[in-house]
Amino acid sequence: MSDEWRCRYKTGKCDFPRAIKYNKKTGAASLLLLCERHRRLQNKTKKRSDTKYKHDRAMLRVLKRLSPKQVESLEPFTPSELEILAYYLL
Ligand SMILES: [Zn+2]
Repeated sequence: MSDEWRCRYKTGKCDFPRAIKYNKKTGAASLLLLCERHRRLQNKTKKRSDTKYKHDRAMLRVLKRLSPKQVESLEPFTPSELEILAYYLL
């Protein structure tokens, strides 16, 4: 397979062909940079970091409103519990 068609995943060791995406409106096909597998992997990673970012923001909002004593007691909370806390406190 020529390099043109090979997955461009950053390790450079993937020999799968690049995935093809079809535009729903025009039906035009475009060649993606990554193979189907790596494309999904990348999407999944992106979603996870978006979620983490939201958790961090929620935590920050909570911490800003609490006293140091209360912050100490936050330790055992999971990010999703903190998110709920943020929702109710702020
Ligand atoms: Zn790949």
